[in-house]
Amino acid sequence: MIIAIDGPAGSGKTTIGRMVADALGFALVDTGLFYRAVTVEARRRGIAADDVTGLRRMLGELRIEINTSPSAGRAGPLLSIDGRDISGAAHDPAIAAELSRISGIPEVRRLLIEPQRRAASGDAVILGRDIGTVIFPDAEVKFFFTAPAAERVARRRRELDEARGSATPDAVLEQEVEARDRADQEREVAPLRPATDAIIVATESKSVRQVFDEVMARLPKH
Ligand code: C5P
Repeated sequence: MIIAIDGPAGSGKTTIGRMVADALGFALVDTGLFYRAVTVEARRRGIAADDVTGLRRMLGELRIEINTSPSAGRAGPLLSIDGRDISGAAHDPAIAAELSRISGIPEVRRLLIEPQRRAASGDAVILGRDIGTVIFPDAEVKFFFTAPAAERVARRRRELDEARGSATPDAVLEQEVEARDRADQEREVAPLRPATDAIIVATESKSVRQVFDEVMARLPKH
């Protein structure tokens, strides 16, 4: 079974997705990692975020590996390229502007469709922006998470603090989350949008437990 969870940054997809995958014994595929990997590697190679030819060539060579174990104590890195662990660099807020630009390039999106589908063979919870609309339009169940910008920024703050004791100022974080969402919503190819058959989950002011229960209650019986 494929469970798709789409929504903007900080809407709770990762926390809830991990809990659901854990509870069901499913894989967890966070597709944002693919876009983050391309951005980190383009930076390393000095390829500009608008150099479509350079990005296409790079994508033909890259081996992006994402860890699909939902458990916090997973073995091995979360994200690696050609065997190099880039999990830390991938979540650096400083890459946000390039991340948005690169995810807006239709050719990059097209080349990442197959790797995303392959990563999610079998039973999986898949997190992203266009899972229900483009990557798995036939997913058995689709959720679309929403939350107001202020709450999403506050969640990103907590995530970053937990991950690396980040000193990123709130203003930078606001810019990171809001500008990224705007770009995701406004791009022409695969914009952030609920599929027509998605279940909308408003996570505002709800506890993690409440959102988790809401999602579990809506899963098809199998
Ligand atoms: O989910 P995460 O915040 O890690 O995603 C990083 C970026 O990757 C998003 O802002 C978006 O631009 C892009 N993305 C996307 N489609 C997906 C997943 C992520 O465009 N399915």
